[in-house]
Amino acid sequence: MQVREEVAKGNMLPLMEAFYTIQGEGTFTGHPAYFIRLGGCDVGCVWCDVKDSWEGEKWPVKPIEEIVAEAERFPGRLVVITGGEPLMYNLGPITSLLKDRGFTINIETSGAHPFSGSFDWVCFSPKKFKAPHPSIYEKADELKVIVFHKSDIGFAEKHAAQVQSHCTLLLQPEWSKAREVSSLIVDYVKDHPNWKISLQTHKFMDIP
Ligand code: SF4
Repeated sequence: MQVREEVAKGNMLPLMEAFYTIQGEGTFTGHPAYFIRLGGCDVGCVWCDVKDSWEGEKWPVKPIEEIVAEAERFPGRLVVITGGEPLMYNLGPITSLLKDRGFTINIETSGAHPFSGSFDWVCFSPKKFKAPHPSIYEKADELKVIVFHKSDIGFAEKHAAQVQSHCTLLLQPEWSKAREVSSLIVDYVKDHPNWKISLQTHKFMDIP
């Protein structure tokens, strides 16, 4: 019971994995970063490449001090909190601790839960399978829409109409559909130059 309360407060979090690598996609592509992947997701994307993350209960629950101490072992000072869906948890305490220790903090989220925590960069990647919570729209620095089907372009436009004007707009081909959707994305971005293309460069380079 006590662990559950600590998770609710954000003092402990279910950690699926954490690793130091290179950010492969989005605005921070190419930056070394320490990824903190929290377990648990209720969004249910059919093409999800981390389905193992969905069941939050199966991952060890760790005190945030321990999670941050691990991050400090590596030379990079950029942390990316991802999942699963990290906003299922109260991210206030961990982001405050990371900030105290000098980290730049990014998040990758579908926005499906109320926003919490304090971030330097918010990558909002909405999914058709669960509608975003309205709190994400004023927080998003980057709107990254995964294109699996041509209808995803209209979906992207719908969300672009709700984010702030400074928000970077990115279309990213879903890895297994890249051949089918790439020319569609290229033509769209050429016609709509406020959008850019994001690629999963870590998959091209085989970086875990
Ligand atoms: S939101 Fe992310 S972790 Fe959750 S199902 Fe979709 S792709 Fe997978």
